[in-house]
Amino acid sequence: MAKTEEKTVPPVTLVDPIELSELDRDFREEIHNMPNGEELGACFACSTCTAACPIANSWDYKPHQLIRMILLGMREKVLASDEIWLCLTCFECQERCPQNVRVTDILFDCKNLAAEEGRIPPNVAELGKELVEQGQLYVITADWEREDLGLEPSLPGLQTEGVQNMLKESRTGRLLEEED
Ligand code: SF4
Ligand code: SF4
Repeated sequence: MAKTEEKTVPPVTLVDPIELSELDRDFREEIHNMPNGEELGACFACSTCTAACPIANSWDYKPHQLIRMILLGMREKVLASDEIWLCLTCFECQERCPQNVRVTDILFDCKNLAAEEGRIPPNVAELGKELVEQGQLYVITADWEREDLGLEPSLPGLQTEGVQNMLKESRTGRLLEEED
């Protein structure tokens, strides 16, 4: 009988092994003590949040995994993840969670913590700066469509100065200033 060839491929695992030395035991409490973290510990990993999420298929860490990672203390991995910034804030996960875990808002808290540590992705920082500098995200320009409709070329009465001043004084404004 022919000898069976020994396989050298690594074993298949569903998740990467967790490095215990990288865990931050305080992370769970840190998120729990934030305004949206009260129900965090009630998560029973049902994955309903992930099933509801319209874009989780393209994420390395799905919403239920991010919540589990927070519970386990994987602070570094969560705050360095792209996913917290890719969230569309559609609230589908949060609306459907049977345990009332505020999934979307917790991702906001993670974004805030990451931002405080200077981990704002460049594209998000650019958008933020535009918002602070102009008082609006998309500047409405005077164009021929308004004139064709018999309207003044520029939008009348659009005041953004107050918004600009308010944003400059906000935590977001200060964080973005530190980015420069
Ligand atoms: S839906 Fe709620 S309970 Fe279920 S995994 Fe997501 S956060 Fe946890
Ligand atoms: S709020 Fe974010 S995480 Fe939740 S379902 Fe929408 S995109 Fe997914």
